[in-house]
Amino acid sequence: MNKVLSIIEEHVKELGVPMAEEVYKITRDPFKVLVSTILSARTRDETTSRVCKELFKKIKKPSDLKKISLKELRKIIKPINFYKNKSRYLKELSSLKRVPDTLKELVKLPGVGRKTANIVLNVAFGKPSIAVDTHVHRVMNRLGYVKTKKPKETEKELREKLPKKWWSKVNYLLVLFGQHTCTPISPWCSKCPVREHCPQIGVTRTR
Ligand code: SF4
Repeated sequence: MNKVLSIIEEHVKELGVPMAEEVYKITRDPFKVLVSTILSARTRDETTSRVCKELFKKIKKPSDLKKISLKELRKIIKPINFYKNKSRYLKELSSLKRVPDTLKELVKLPGVGRKTANIVLNVAFGKPSIAVDTHVHRVMNRLGYVKTKKPKETEKELREKLPKKWWSKVNYLLVLFGQHTCTPISPWCSKCPVREHCPQIGVTRTR
């Protein structure tokens, strides 16, 4: 897997920096990493980035969320998918004293699933964790590195076998790779840089 991930890393390097990392690099603030990661779920990074810029002009810490009305919050984050639910989640974060630094505590927060929690742990606290979403799950199964039915099972298998140096990177590498090359319905196997290492498990149609 070292070789395959190195090739993928080279392949996607022009495609951009992951959202949460960009926010952390600029702000060094776990709260803003948390907010941007919640907002980025099922939304394009360009959109999330634009919305976060506007939002962070008004919201700099959890208690600022008390001062803003739900209506105004919705208006700011409207370009984000599921903005109604997400504005509610953000409002519920207004009494947060500090962003937790454990998976167990993070997943108790509104709008935070395992993937979001793992990204926050990685990016904001530098804790090794593996964020598995549908892209990571799909690509790892197609490559035959894991044989699993659900992302949670993939996370477990990866924890057992993936070399630690890839833990923090595997999510953004495979998200970009999954969006641009190993796409869900009909992957671009004809121009895939890891084609010779891939048994294409479960792939029925390719481009
Ligand atoms: S060869 Fe096809 S299925 Fe395998 S990783 Fe590349 S795009 Fe995905």
